[in-house]
Amino acid sequence: MIQTIYYAFLPPPAPQDWQKELVENAITEYTRHANVILIDASNDTTKSADIRISFVPQNNTWSAIGTDALKIAKGEATMNLGFLTVKPSESNRDQVYDLVLHQFGHAFGLAHEWDPTWAKLKSDSHASGNPRAFLQHTAAYRTEPTSNFWTPDENSIMKFVQYLPEGSFLIP
Ligand SMILES: [Zn+2]
Repeated sequence: MIQTIYYAFLPPPAPQDWQKELVENAITEYTRHANVILIDASNDTTKSADIRISFVPQNNTWSAIGTDALKIAKGEATMNLGFLTVKPSESNRDQVYDLVLHQFGHAFGLAHEWDPTWAKLKSDSHASGNPRAFLQHTAAYRTEPTSNFWTPDENSIMKFVQYLPEGSFLIP
């Protein structure tokens, strides 16, 4: 059965065209693999879309995981892409796009790929822009491996890795 999910951009600040394009490309990519249709409901004045995306720089980068988004009050963001402050260049577009894909992985219910043998997890700074997302993301990763598959996938878009481009921020 195909599921219809509504998403909306949630200003302020008003989303810029390049920000919307990154998000819409990520959504299109997921719809190739998952049985979902996503509909832009940004014009809905009740702000009741299932996934509500804001771009507030000081609120960090995080997403509610799957249906946890339904527990967040209408009109409030369920995903904030605070790291998207500068339009990516040709050289870092793929890395920036991967971060957007990662957040939508959370929105579609995926947890982090994590194995205790991997690099030390900087969980204390993870998803720190939102207390609910912080709790969702940090509880499982101290000692136990977690994976969306049989074994943790080193190349998963959901792998939590430290990422230090120009400036520095962490993949949430
Ligand atoms: Zn994450």
